[in-house]
Amino acid sequence: MRSHRILFSSIILFCITTIKGNFLTYENARRAVIQAEDLLTTGGRIQLNDKEIKVNELFMKYKLEELAKGYRNPDVNAAGLHFFKAKPLIEHSKVFQFLRRMPKGATLHMHNSASVSSEWVVRNISYMPGLLRCTNKDGVSVLSFRRSLDLGCETQSVYVAEERLRSISPMAYDRNLEKLINLYTPVPEIEYPTIGKVWTKFQNMFTTLNDVLRYLPAYRAYHWQMLEELYNDNIMYAEIRMDFKELYDYSGRTFAPERGVKELLNVIEQFRYQHPRFLGIKIIYSTNRNVDRNRMREQFDKFKQLHSAYSNFIVGFDLVGQEDKGKPLYTFVQSLTNLPPTARYFFHAGETNWYGASTDFNLLDAILMNTTRIGHGYALMKHPVLWNSVKTRDIAIEVSPISNQVLHLVWDLRNHPGGFFMSQNIPMVVCNDDPGFWSTKGLSYDFYYAIMSLAPNNSGLKTLKNLVWNSIRYSVLNTFERKAAFANLERDWNNFLEDVLKGLVF
Ligand SMILES: [Zn+2]
Repeated sequence: MRSHRILFSSIILFCITTIKGNFLTYENARRAVIQAEDLLTTGGRIQLNDKEIKVNELFMKYKLEELAKGYRNPDVNAAGLHFFKAKPLIEHSKVFQFLRRMPKGATLHMHNSASVSSEWVVRNISYMPGLLRCTNKDGVSVLSFRRSLDLGCETQSVYVAEERLRSISPMAYDRNLEKLINLYTPVPEIEYPTIGKVWTKFQNMFTTLNDVLRYLPAYRAYHWQMLEELYNDNIMYAEIRMDFKELYDYSGRTFAPERGVKELLNVIEQFRYQHPRFLGIKIIYSTNRNVDRNRMREQFDKFKQLHSAYSNFIVGFDLVGQEDKGKPLYTFVQSLTNLPPTARYFFHAGETNWYGASTDFNLLDAILMNTTRIGHGYALMKHPVLWNSVKTRDIAIEVSPISNQVLHLVWDLRNHPGGFFMSQNIPMVVCNDDPGFWSTKGLSYDFYYAIMSLAPNNSGLKTLKNLVWNSIRYSVLNTFERKAAFANLERDWNNFLEDVLKGLVF
């Protein structure tokens, strides 16, 4: 990194001297600086093969056409619009068509309970017999398959099937049900004028679904669908944030959290049997940051227990929930000691606009605690010592553009710090965070913003390839699994290039 900076400054110095001395034309000096910057960006040093060069030419044709259209008319510039307004434009885009077919490797930051499309949840889980709905003291609808547990209901629990039957239109009922677990609105600027408004609704959606996903048949079907949605978007592997709570069945019997691990392993095994190209998932055990130190220690112990039993499956630990409202990581430094040598931290950090506030220092503590990757790292750009350290220590930033926009950190994603990470080739991977809560599936939509909004206009296949390969490079797959993943990726990538050149993609 240091050598890049020295190279860069010497080019500038050289250019100034030579212009003064008339050795180089102004045009040459200009070109030299642009080339030097291109080399510094994510993917800048990748050499494309002949096939890739041809595919890149096609991709760039569509990318530049789309950008030019947006430049002429900002109303159709998907790259600069809020996702809820841009989604139909993105879905008609050739660039998006390309990205959907592109093998994307892995998603390394996604929360299980917000991973599956809300539409699927309504069409499937809400039609499972026995689903009940009630309203809690905050006016939030809570869904569950049991009456026995205290879910904080303030109203009587009613069967969803009966409510639906009694409603004027079952379709309208389902649409309203889906609104409980999806942030979509055509006017986000009106419905969510502040970060507080959108986070309240966002957290409520977890409350609505929390107990449903602990019902054994729903747990199995939901996680199968999670894998299906990843696989259908050409993703072959994922590292998922989740915790393991008690499960229950129709008779009200409950099962220890370990049962959830076994059930999930079973789902993965069966899924892989049907889809051998899918490599599987690993789990980052996650707990809410809004708890006291004792509770945190309990959760950490629970993680360590599960990790010792499933060390190649439950691989790491993280804290979740709104950073600005939760406790800063610093609070828990003493509670999170004695991490087993085989386990790792994957902290959310810097998901904030509060420069210099206590949550802003989560980045510092995450790095001091030797985090393997950083979730979001949105505020990292403001901390030069930290981003230099991230680069030197090769800690990848899990960038989730749509999440950062929908959850109110930035409106126009061309202002997202991911652009800075790319300009400095700071290690990063593209992630999707909570796709089910805003109607994306897989990674293609986030990749759209990565290449159209974060990357410079002239970035194409080199950048995309770098980001895709990063997703395996910065995963915690073991040596054997990593070898298989790269072999799969090479094969799928090559098939993809062939398909593009045969005209099967555009
Ligand atoms: Zn997250």
